[in-house]
Amino acid sequence: MSFDALNLNEVLTRALKAAGYEQPTDVQTSAIPPAMAGTDLMVSSRTGSGKTASFMLPALTRVLASRQAAVKTRGPRVLVLTPTRELALQVAKAAMDYGRFVPGLRVATVVGGVPYGAQLAALRGPLDILIATPGRLIDHLGSGKAQLGNIEMLVLDEADRMLDMGFIDDIRLITEATPKTRQTVMYSATFSGPVGRLAQDLLRTPQRIEVSSQTEAHADIEQRLHWADDFEHKNALLDHILTERSMEQALVFTSTQRDADWLADRLHEMGHSVASLHGGMPQGRRNRVLQGLRSQHLRVLVATDVAARGIDVATISHVINFGLPMKEEDYVHRIGRTGRAGRSGLAVTLAERRDSGMIHRIQRYTTQRIPMATIAGLEPKRAEPKPAMHADARSGQRPAGKSFGPRPSGKAPFRPAGKTFSKAGPRAR
Ligand code: AMP
Repeated sequence: MSFDALNLNEVLTRALKAAGYEQPTDVQTSAIPPAMAGTDLMVSSRTGSGKTASFMLPALTRVLASRQAAVKTRGPRVLVLTPTRELALQVAKAAMDYGRFVPGLRVATVVGGVPYGAQLAALRGPLDILIATPGRLIDHLGSGKAQLGNIEMLVLDEADRMLDMGFIDDIRLITEATPKTRQTVMYSATFSGPVGRLAQDLLRTPQRIEVSSQTEAHADIEQRLHWADDFEHKNALLDHILTERSMEQALVFTSTQRDADWLADRLHEMGHSVASLHGGMPQGRRNRVLQGLRSQHLRVLVATDVAARGIDVATISHVINFGLPMKEEDYVHRIGRTGRAGRSGLAVTLAERRDSGMIHRIQRYTTQRIPMATIAGLEPKRAEPKPAMHADARSGQRPAGKSFGPRPSGKAPFRPAGKTFSKAGPRAR
């Protein structure tokens, strides 16, 4: 199918051509026609599948229609709610990219962690599309600065994630401030449990679109699991992987902010161009780090789950799980940061024995076994943890040929003096 079949305004198809898109992705083919017809939607489609355009193009179509009708209103017509600042900024960038030829397009983002001044100015002026994280939008609603009385289309992006982050009451308050006649489209990995109940309350005769399930194989992403005997061994495995020649850029995940800082420090001392990214950092610094990643000044980014949401950098060749995620869904979100834009990616999980329960849960969630791998000279001395691992695995054999050369000399596990890696302490993500 080509974009022509979607009957998009010429102003939008021109922008898609300029972006180099040749044809719509599956989620775009499935969601754009009903979204443009005003239907409420429940969409499950993994990140990287082109889902942003699948709601942004219909949203921009509404903006164009209002331009033609020369209707003047105060307050935005389209509201997009996202769980994190990074995702909000990414969606805003998509709005500007796809809407680059829409005359006088006005897009504003309202996210936490940045000063109120510029946001207030943007909210006061005329506005087409508002992209917000729920908490900060609630602040502006409370002070009467945000007007949602003209919202025609409400998008809840990564709704499951927003509920996980405790935004349920905020989302309900925000939707109550929008007209009942609005169109609502919800994106979520799952529509069971609380997300399903929210959908039931907010959507009217919705159409369900399930493009490629979250548990589907990531065809472009090779997954590997390395068992580590202990923490030192895990560090040695990481050090080896980061020096492989195929490594362009790596996103290394830790479980906590503190671990992210600690590991970034350690890798920095080893000479890597590395930074950490987590929710405890001021927004300005987070933006600079992301810029460093995009411009390839950084080769390694050590991040926590929340901070890494929405990172879309095509040159990330490796995702490395140094600390396992708290939730199995996050594994899928993490590995989706590589293998973007048609490239292939490698997702490596470094697990210690005590992680076997989570490895098992991840494998059950993805209905896939993560193939085990070893590095010559760095093989685990202890046998793999059996019970959880192989409960539903078909083969316990290590894949042959997964050997990645000798252990680099002089790369003894390194731990900076005076710093201890402790599992205690703040577990802020
Ligand atoms: P998303 O799932 O919205 O995060 O999009 C993932 C990536 O796919 C982004 O880098 C988009 O720029 C890109 N993209 C979206 N739609 C298309 C398309 N039709 N053709 C090629 N790339 C696309």
